[in-house]
Amino acid sequence: MSLRFVHETLPQRVRFASGAAAEALAAEVAGTGAQRVMVVAAGAESDLAGRITDGLPVALRHDEVVMHVPVAVAERARAAAREHDVDLVVSVGGGSTTGLAKAVALETGLPIVAVPTTYAGSEATDVWGLTEGSTKTTGVDARVLPRCVVYDATLTLSLPVDLSVASGLNALAHCVDSMWAPRTDPVDQALATEGIRALAAGLPRVVDDPGGLEGREQVLYGAYLSAIAFASAGSGLHHKTCHVLGGRYDLPHAPTHAVVLPHVLALNAPGAPEADARIAAALGSETGLAGLWDLGRRLDAPRALRDLGLGEDQVPDAAAAVLPVVPEGNPVPVTMDDLTRLLHDAWEGAEPR
Ligand code: NAD
Repeated sequence: MSLRFVHETLPQRVRFASGAAAEALAAEVAGTGAQRVMVVAAGAESDLAGRITDGLPVALRHDEVVMHVPVAVAERARAAAREHDVDLVVSVGGGSTTGLAKAVALETGLPIVAVPTTYAGSEATDVWGLTEGSTKTTGVDARVLPRCVVYDATLTLSLPVDLSVASGLNALAHCVDSMWAPRTDPVDQALATEGIRALAAGLPRVVDDPGGLEGREQVLYGAYLSAIAFASAGSGLHHKTCHVLGGRYDLPHAPTHAVVLPHVLALNAPGAPEADARIAAALGSETGLAGLWDLGRRLDAPRALRDLGLGEDQVPDAAAAVLPVVPEGNPVPVTMDDLTRLLHDAWEGAEPR
């Protein structure tokens, strides 16, 4: 077999600065020369954002953040940015907050410096998402990639354990799906493998000691690796499925990923033995699925879509919506029956088959 592939690395500066986000952010913002900063942070994170942005030349603080970025919310943020003649967007928060900053950048071309406070990974991708009615649209655009990311694990200390677990498993899903996503290559797979190792090492420590930093640092590092692997490899079956569930039924993003992932791995693993072996090795288990299921048990991870608000009667509709978006190169062929069974198992929290 000849080694031939094309891998594109996204142009972004990344700074890991545990306990030093304020100083790191000040230096990065100064480096851009910005004079009129728009700080995007949800109301719930306003104190945390205030602590690290107080020294910046802030022209506007915007706190209307809604998960999956409804178009009307994005429009109001863009209008506010124009009205205040902003020259840089600083986002402080989870994937929803980063997503709003991206929606602003998509139309205005403003640069972003992102400070993530969850493990969602949006800050390291050039993917944007907007929701109108029950349809979530995503796209890829170089303008939405933050110029710089400041990672400070102390900012995630306040993230409750259940949200930390779901968010960390969202990152793990980026890694697993990157193993077989449409543009996957050996570099993505290497990043994803190390991401899985770091996440699996860090998450149990976060659960055992939520106030401890070491587990959080491992998870944040793993989340970054997961995001760059995902940005390069694209969306595989897992992301396509969760995308439908999130947009169509407004299910919470990270817990949905946590529930669905073992079921997609169970379906795809027989067609992707090499990927499965690498996932298993990174998890220190016999098979990828055994390792993932055990990790979920250890973390008390969410297991059932019915607990997240999906009705059993919605399963056939969801399966029908996923079928047309199954990626062409998925490791195994996928039928309507496969999807109905997968989603029903995920709905009731059954063990994956
Ligand atoms: P989120 O941003 O909605 O945050 C979840 C909850 O955690 C919110 O209530 C928030 O206020 C709270 N929170 C955030 N940080 C906290 C902290 N440090 N302490 C306490 N509470 C905190 O959820 P998320 O899972 O981070 O992001 C989900 C969104 O991100 C979805 O819309 C998803 O589509 C998007 N996303 C996009 C990409 C991409 O590449 N474009 C990648 C991953 C996720």
